[in-house]
Amino acid sequence: MSLIVQKFGGSSVADAERVFNVAKIVTDTYKKGNQVVVVVSAQGDTTDDLIEKANEINPNASKREKDMLLAAGEQISISLLAMAIEKLGYPVVSLLGWQAGFQTSSAYTSARIKKVRTDRISKELDKKNIVVVAGFQGLNKYEDVTTLGRGGSDTSAVAIAAAMNADLCQIFTDVKGVYTADPRKVENAKMLKSISYDEMLELATLGAQVLNNRSVEMAKKYNIELEVLSSFTNTPGTIVKEAAKMEKMLISGVAKDTDVARISVLGVPDEPGLAFKMFSRLSAKKINIDIILQSIGRDGTKDISFTVAKDNAKEAAEVMEDYINTVGGKSVSIDEKVAKISIVGAGMESHAGVATKMFEALYDAHINIRMISTSEIKVSVLIDEDKADAAVKAIHSKFFDED
Ligand code: ADP
Ligand code: ASP
Ligand code: MG
Repeated sequence: MSLIVQKFGGSSVADAERVFNVAKIVTDTYKKGNQVVVVVSAQGDTTDDLIEKANEINPNASKREKDMLLAAGEQISISLLAMAIEKLGYPVVSLLGWQAGFQTSSAYTSARIKKVRTDRISKELDKKNIVVVAGFQGLNKYEDVTTLGRGGSDTSAVAIAAAMNADLCQIFTDVKGVYTADPRKVENAKMLKSISYDEMLELATLGAQVLNNRSVEMAKKYNIELEVLSSFTNTPGTIVKEAAKMEKMLISGVAKDTDVARISVLGVPDEPGLAFKMFSRLSAKKINIDIILQSIGRDGTKDISFTVAKDNAKEAAEVMEDYINTVGGKSVSIDEKVAKISIVGAGMESHAGVATKMFEALYDAHINIRMISTSEIKVSVLIDEDKADAAVKAIHSKFFDED
């Protein structure tokens, strides 16, 4: 007997027919003699709709109340799925995050899972129940409901798999697996049979929403093999696992992130400690900086630009205004019409010219690069947002269609 965790995303449970489709997959797994824990997300666009409802009432509502509202989406899915499983004649129980033992940090709307106390889930499995758990939510030390940030149900599933030492963790979604680019945007994107944790972590962090990056981080930490597969087709998906077990691909994928804004600070005094002083002000406000570009000093001044998540752009610019008002400087500006395009691949470490090939693709497509950043297994460029899809296609075609 194996313990299997199966997670179903919002589109997989969007309506009654799809809920029954999921119930069928789950009960087929159970019928084979497995213990099954199912994690579900809110139906279809429910989470977006709830956010809209909150904004209608009070756009400045506290994060505590936002979480109370958002957690409701998953409550609907677990009960409906449990009802469908009951109808198919199998024993089942649905549990909210707190009932399933999810303890989180106190950060409302972006809480981190601290621990899963699995006693209740274990008890239900001992009673031969299929256990359906609400993803995306937990309880903090104040005994308030928290949510884990968008896409957080993937992490809920991996956390249960880790805490219960599950034999398999399957992430069912609306595409057949992880592709070399978003298959909805790039027609000839290829599905990967497998991908390493490190590459998947980069892709997820750089915008491939198919897996939440924290779920990959946790899977790597606890060595949980994940399978990403479709809930609509009965076909094997992509395995996410340790790199040692696979051949290194030169490039495993191209990702796009439009949740980026560029802040430019012009004409700041060119002196030692400049970067430290500027960025320590931002880190004091817990604003994460991504790509940084610093110009060569001229006439005793420099320009520095950096990128942040769109949500942080206004605050980051205010911090920088404050900085130039006290230290000196010419101006601060925000550009939100930018996108970050990245290539990821473990093979880059040992091959020269990968970045050049990416730049050539952009040159051929007449797309201007505004910033560049590289690490061992990725290259990212910042470009104009309206060119983002064209850039992904051009780069993807350069790496995957020629040879
Ligand atoms: P779920 O609701 O099941 O969690 P998501 O919408 O969060 O599903 O993630 C699945 C979507 O991720 C796909 O529909 C696809 O458009 C998108 N996606 C982006 N990049 C990739 C990629 N490299 N491979 C597969 N899907 C991707
Ligand atoms: N329902 C949540 C969201 O839309 C969590 C998830 O789908 O993973 O972000
Ligand atoms: Mg998702």
